[in-house]
Amino acid sequence: MDLGLKGKLAVITGGSVGIGLAVAEGLAAEGASVLITARGQERVHAEAARIGATWGVEAHGVAADVATAQGCAKIVTAAAQLGGAHILINNAGTGSNETIAEADDAKWQYYWDLHVMAAVRLARGLVPQMKIHNWGAIIHNASICAVQPLWYEPIYNTTKAALMMFSKTLANEVVGDNIRVNTINPGLVLTPDWIKTAKQLAGEDGYEAHLQGVADEAGGMKRFATPEELANFFVFLCSDRASYSTGSTYFVDGGWLRTV
Ligand code: NDP
Repeated sequence: MDLGLKGKLAVITGGSVGIGLAVAEGLAAEGASVLITARGQERVHAEAARIGATWGVEAHGVAADVATAQGCAKIVTAAAQLGGAHILINNAGTGSNETIAEADDAKWQYYWDLHVMAAVRLARGLVPQMKIHNWGAIIHNASICAVQPLWYEPIYNTTKAALMMFSKTLANEVVGDNIRVNTINPGLVLTPDWIKTAKQLAGEDGYEAHLQGVADEAGGMKRFATPEELANFFVFLCSDRASYSTGSTYFVDGGWLRTV
């Protein structure tokens, strides 16, 4: 199936590893040019070079911290220099670990900047580029935790819920500009970071059992998704095959969500 993404420029934040990298690969496999961003300069450039060589597309890496206004401005400028973005995947993010009683204002502010303000600032900068193309697709990678909170990460739950509402509101604002905006709420996705943490907690011999325990507790399919399984959904949603989808949130969670 041709998804019609050839020649589109896709900006993927947090595109150097995990879900973001898999989405970048999925879009490149469809012939899209990709601009991946992350803070770590070496990894983002190395992965961009690898994607370009593997899929024969234009692929660029930008080292930028999306939790800052300057970092977002750098990404917007880089996209403009490449002819303007068609696709934006707001993916950079990370879990937290705290109680409401103990977390200070600075921690709340950091996650607000990372999960919400990055999306606000990149929309402000990249939507005008999409309007010039008269075509755009924006996907916010939130989390099942946006609606089904985990007790140990109140800041993550709250800022991801805010991101979901931002996505809906942005969708309403640009619906007349042929720009579609959606949210994807993943469940458990087996990224290198999950494996690293599991090894730290349970050791080389016990990490697989530890991860299975996490999946068993979630229920549903009782397994992690691969980043590629999730990326397939992102790629479809970016394409015109999903042309009637905007302002929605899609759960890709193997049945973990306990409500309708
Ligand atoms: P990873 O930790 O594997 O990768 C995160 C990516 O984001 C890296 O490229 C990292 O690069 C980048 N990043 C982190 N902070 C910043 C920052 N301040 N500025 C710019 N880039 C940044 O994450 P995952 O692939 O697991 O997760 C991706 C998204 O999916 C996140 O938003 C997460 O909340 C969400 N999600 C993940 C789930 C999972 O099970 N894995 C489940 C549900 C949602 P660098 O460190 O170099 O900046």
